Amino acid sequence: MATFIVLLGPPGVGKGTQAKIMAEETGLVHISSGDLFRENIKGQTELGKLAQTYIGRGELVPDNLTIAMIRERLARPDCKAGAILDGFPRTTTQADALEKMLGEFNGKVNKVPYITASEKVLVERLSGRWTCRANGHVYHDKLNPPKQATVCDLDGSELYQRDDDKSDTVVRRIQVYLEQTAPLITYYRGRGNLIEINGTQNIRDVTKSLLSALKK
Ligand code: AMP
Repeated sequence: MATFIVLLGPPGVGKGTQAKIMAEETGLVHISSGDLFRENIKGQTELGKLAQTYIGRGELVPDNLTIAMIRERLARPDCKAGAILDGFPRTTTQADALEKMLGEFNGKVNKVPYITASEKVLVERLSGRWTCRANGHVYHDKLNPPKQATVCDLDGSELYQRDDDKSDTVVRRIQVYLEQTAPLITYYRGRGNLIEINGTQNIRDVTKSLLSALKK
């Protein structure tokens, strides 16, 4: 049976950074709903144009669009063994849809690491964040700076600040998380999948905690 890991936690807690490392460590593919939307925006697809109006305001893209996009992604052959899901599900409707989809794909949600940090830490991390244009690698100007300013260490592409990492939108994204995504903590705790991870540790220690939690 295919193994799916859902990384849960507020924006800025380090899900993307850790998901990339987890994917390398486990050999599972990394699927980020935010990256998929950003690819659509870059390619100016219909979905991208629609999603942009929500993302720019720090709101969630409607469930039906998000679920359809993820369904299409999970149906591809590289997900046969499972995946690390980063940013999906973000609502209980999406979590129910995921459970149903995985039933069809002979998979299940195995573990749900829930990475936590205070709101103050999140705002600090998001507002200093730089993202690589080519592959979405993430840096922070103080906590995890690139070797050369505005250049990705890993692929040499340009680093940019996401529009939705600007301060007004950041505050709204955290609010939306608390209202719409935080109920998933109870959802997955009730299913016995949840593992709490302290996200205020440095990147390497969060990785260590995650890897040992996944082994249990
Ligand atoms: P992220 O890169 O995960 O921070 O996502 C960036 C933005 O994309 C979010 O603030 C939402 O507007 C949108 N988004 C990403 N994933 C989802 C999702 N599962 N459901 C709805 N909107 C999403």
